[in-house]
Amino acid sequence: MEKLLLIKYGELTTKKGNRKVFIKMLCKNIEKILYGINYNLEQNLSCMYIKVEEKDLNVCLEKLLQVFGIHSIAICESVNNNIEDIQNKVVEILKNKNFNSFKIETKRSNKKFSLNSLEVSSKVGGFVLKNISCKVDVHNPDILVNVEIRGEATYIYVDVISGLGGYPVGIQGKGLLMLSGGIDSPVAGYLSLKRGVDLECLYFESLPHTSLEAREKVLKLASILNEYSLNIKVHVVPFTNIQETIYKNAPDSYIITIMRRMMYRIADRYSKKIKCKVIINGESIGQVASQTLTSMVVINSVTNKPIIRPVACMDKLEIIDIANKINTYQTSILPYEDCCTIFVPKHPVINPKIEKCEYYESLIDYKTMIDECIKNTFVVKINESKKINDLL
Ligand code: ATP
Ligand code: MG
Repeated sequence: MEKLLLIKYGELTTKKGNRKVFIKMLCKNIEKILYGINYNLEQNLSCMYIKVEEKDLNVCLEKLLQVFGIHSIAICESVNNNIEDIQNKVVEILKNKNFNSFKIETKRSNKKFSLNSLEVSSKVGGFVLKNISCKVDVHNPDILVNVEIRGEATYIYVDVISGLGGYPVGIQGKGLLMLSGGIDSPVAGYLSLKRGVDLECLYFESLPHTSLEAREKVLKLASILNEYSLNIKVHVVPFTNIQETIYKNAPDSYIITIMRRMMYRIADRYSKKIKCKVIINGESIGQVASQTLTSMVVINSVTNKPIIRPVACMDKLEIIDIANKINTYQTSILPYEDCCTIFVPKHPVINPKIEKCEYYESLIDYKTMIDECIKNTFVVKINESKKINDLL
C-alpha cells in the first residue's frame, strides 16, 4: 500500500520571484535526504506530494522533519474518486477522533470530477452529520477535514505535522562557521542552516595544549549539524604556533583580543579560498570580555567580510534551549579544553584599543604564521552515513 504525504512550503511561498528556484533547491535537498528510499515526488508552486510505500512511511517522515523549507507535512488517506468512498473514509477517520465541531474543505484539481468543491464539502458534511453526533462550524471548527480530489485518487487528511520551516539549505550559498566545542557556535550554525546558508566549518586547534578528544567533539557537533545539510566539511587549522607566539609577546590582558583578531584574519583568508560569502560565529554580546561591543569592533576591524552572529542578542539560557532541542548540548558540555579556554588571563581587556593591538602585533611575524596555518589546514568530511555515536 502506498501512502501520500502532502508537504507545504510555508515562508518560502512569500518569495514570489524566486519561488521556482526555492522549490528546486528543496527538491534537491529532499532527494539527498531520502536517498535509498523508493518514493515518487510531484511538486507545484504551492505544495509537494511524496508517495512512499507504507513500510517506509515512518523513516521518510523522520527524515523530512529535518529538512529546512518544509512548513508542514500531512499524511493523507487515499480513496477512489467517487463521492461514496470519500464520504465513508471521512466518517471512518472522524469516528476515531474526539471533537464537537468540524468543517470539510475540498480542493478539486481534477476538474473532470462530477461535483464541484462546494458540492463535495456539503455532501460529505451531510454524511458526517448523519453518522456522528456533532455539528458544523465553518469559522472555528475543532477539526478541519481536507479533501483533495486529484487525477489519480482523492486524498483526505486531518492531522498536520509541523516541519522545521526556514529556507532550503544552500539557497543562500555558503558561509564559513567558526565552530568550536562550545555551546554557542553549533546553535549559530543551526540557525544559519535554517535561513538557507550552507556551511563549511573552521576549527582552530592548538595541539598539544588542546586534545584530539576536543577535535572529535567538534567533529561530532559538525555531524549533528550535518543531519540538516548532508554536506558539511570541517577545516582544521593548526593554531599552536601562532597562539604560543602571541602568548610570549603580548601582555596578558591583550592575548585573547589578539588571538581572536588572528582567528578572524585566518577565517577571512580561508573563506575567500573556499568561496564562502560570510563568516558565521557564536559570539553573543557581552558574554565574555572579547564580546563587549568595543571588543567586537576592535576584533572585527581586521576583516571586511560580513560576520553573521545568529546568537548575538540571545541570553545564554535561550541558546541552551536551542542546543537541547537540536541535540548538541550534551556534546558541547563534554569537558575538553578548547584553544579559547587554555591559558585564559585573569583580567582580559574589555575596552581594547586598536592601536595597542597593532603595536603588539607588529612585534610578531604573524603574516608568515598565517600563511603557514592556511597551508597546513586540513579537511575532514563528515560522512553522512556515519551515525553520530560512532564518532566518539
Ligand atoms: P561557549 O559556549 O563556552 O561560550 P564558545 O565556543 O561560544 O563556547 P567563545 O569564547 O564564546 O566560546 O567563542 C566565541 C565564538 O568564537 C564561538 O562561538 C565560535 O564561533 C568562535 N570560536 C571560539 N573558539 C573557536 C575555535 N577553537 N575554533 C573555531 N571557532 C572558535
Ligand atoms: Mg560563547
